[in-house]
Amino acid sequence: MSDLLSQLYRLQTRIQFVRERERKRDTVPPDLVEVDREYKEKVEAVAQLKARLTQAELERRKAEGELADLKERLKKYQAQLRNVQSSREYSAALNEIDGVEKAIRSTEDTFLELEEEIETARTDLEAREKTLPEETEQHEERMKDWRVEQRAINDELGSAKTEIEQLEAQIPPRDRAEFRRLVEKKHGLAVALAVGGSCSACHVKIRPAAMQILKQGREIIYCDSCKRILYYEPQSS
Ligand SMILES: [Zn+2]
Repeated sequence: MSDLLSQLYRLQTRIQFVRERERKRDTVPPDLVEVDREYKEKVEAVAQLKARLTQAELERRKAEGELADLKERLKKYQAQLRNVQSSREYSAALNEIDGVEKAIRSTEDTFLELEEEIETARTDLEAREKTLPEETEQHEERMKDWRVEQRAINDELGSAKTEIEQLEAQIPPRDRAEFRRLVEKKHGLAVALAVGGSCSACHVKIRPAAMQILKQGREIIYCDSCKRILYYEPQSS
């Protein structure tokens, strides 16, 4: 039992270590936050520009198609106009022509606006893509020390995770499941050290009889108050 408890306690320590180091690894240091944000904005701007360009090109192709259709229709109505039999037919055809001509003008405007937008976006994108490699290099240079630190953390994490796997393999599945459940419920602190006869997590005094069993390491004792697994280390009492 005391073996199991020390394994659980060690497991918890390692899990906490992994969480803390992962947080550290994934948090950009304060002095680099601004630099990193600026760089990410530049990368994001290029991505957005590319997406908008693709979209605008699609819209332009659509306007082009619409324009071709409208011009076809205009030809058709103009032909009709030449063959009208009555003044009623004549004014109807004129009306159609008027409508189609309006649509053509508006679609041509849209087309030209898109042409302009595409041209501007292309120039902008070209300029941004030209400077981005150098900016990336500069950014990585500024982040260099941080990257070294991140790699060191990853190494630490690697060995910690291996130890976690080994510990978990040694712990009986039922205890492992119970521990996991408790870790989840107690926000990472499932096993609490008994210090000076009290639970170190909630500071409630442990009953003497429970303390006795705990010291002997005969069975798993839970804190009466916070329901965590208690762990006793002779040197920490
Ligand atoms: Zn407690």
